[in-house]
Amino acid sequence: MKKCRICGGSNFKEVINFGDSPLVNSLIELQDITKTEEVYPLVVHQCQDCYLVQIVNPIDNYKIYQDVDYLYFSSDMPGLFEYFRTYADYIHNLYVKPGDLIVEIGSNDGIWLKNFVRWTPVLGVEPATNVALRAIKNGVPTINQFFTERVAKLIEKEFGQAKIIMGANCIAHLNDLHDMMRGVLALLKHDGVFSVECNYWGGMVRNTNYALIYHDHFSYFTIGVWNNFLKEYGLKVFDAEVTPAQGGSLRIYIGDYPQTERCQLLVKEEEDSNLNSYETCLKYREACMTKAKGLKAIVDKLKSEGKKIAGYGAAAKGFSLLQLAGITTELDYFVDDSPAKQGKFTPVNHIPVISREDANDRLPDYFFITAPNYANVIMKKEKRSGVRFILEDGTIR
Ligand SMILES: [Zn+2]
Repeated sequence: MKKCRICGGSNFKEVINFGDSPLVNSLIELQDITKTEEVYPLVVHQCQDCYLVQIVNPIDNYKIYQDVDYLYFSSDMPGLFEYFRTYADYIHNLYVKPGDLIVEIGSNDGIWLKNFVRWTPVLGVEPATNVALRAIKNGVPTINQFFTERVAKLIEKEFGQAKIIMGANCIAHLNDLHDMMRGVLALLKHDGVFSVECNYWGGMVRNTNYALIYHDHFSYFTIGVWNNFLKEYGLKVFDAEVTPAQGGSLRIYIGDYPQTERCQLLVKEEEDSNLNSYETCLKYREACMTKAKGLKAIVDKLKSEGKKIAGYGAAAKGFSLLQLAGITTELDYFVDDSPAKQGKFTPVNHIPVISREDANDRLPDYFFITAPNYANVIMKKEKRSGVRFILEDGTIR
């Protein structure tokens, strides 16, 4: 048995088991469709010593980021540009003076750092080669690396210490959190701020959200878990908020600053709701299984009536929903706006991914919306098509 990513303990209890699953951020090219594909067990556990909910045996992240083209470009996602600009403005107004170095871990195509380029030096650290190249093309200096202690020290040597280190939706992808944290300590100024936006276990529990569980996400966080982790480094979360991204993300600020009231309230809410307990994990599993079964029942019923169903958005989150529900070949195709995905096939089930335009001559009766956070946008956009919708909780619109 592997050791807990935060505390090194090995006292785990199972939270939820998705069975053998493929890597969901890599779609398959037509010429590779006959090749054998690897699947990996997708099981989530909770450490009973520090309460981190996690995938204990993660697959090598080189498989995810460097062996294949990573297909998630932040700038392709609707609404994210505005979202990250607001985040950048908040940090800029409170903590950044001209000349301060800003470093982002997992900077993707530079969507966040781009907001600072005019003011102050920035550096992105992005492991996916194709995505890092896109950032450089966008004018955001980026190195194609995982953020490790070694890389952080190299940056410090060349650029000096950073006032801000930020990581959005990438910390969950890191296996060695301690290596990252040593890097942050080496690189961050004494009055610097380390800001993280990550998945929020509290939001997942509240919304019965299991779409965020896939091989890329090794850890599922709470403020309590973060504070347990940071103690070892003499740090704490001083500010925190829950943002609407991904159905409820946790945004935290770490550094030597007084704790804000909204942070205190969130910590209290976690304690009052027993969020970090194993009982909460069990309730979560029960609720997820009920939801997944409901979704499968709706899809089966529509199929038995001869209805055609297509997926809207060939995204990792959608594949997790389908995986737990046991929906395999019921969908005729996926539409996706990202040109990098079009013409490819989903792993294992080989459902084709086409552009929305190409779907016009074979419209389904129902679109299954794989990204609940974009459901309203999609339904509005598709109003004229006459196609109806299946939402992730099995409701039909
Ligand atoms: Zn632990």
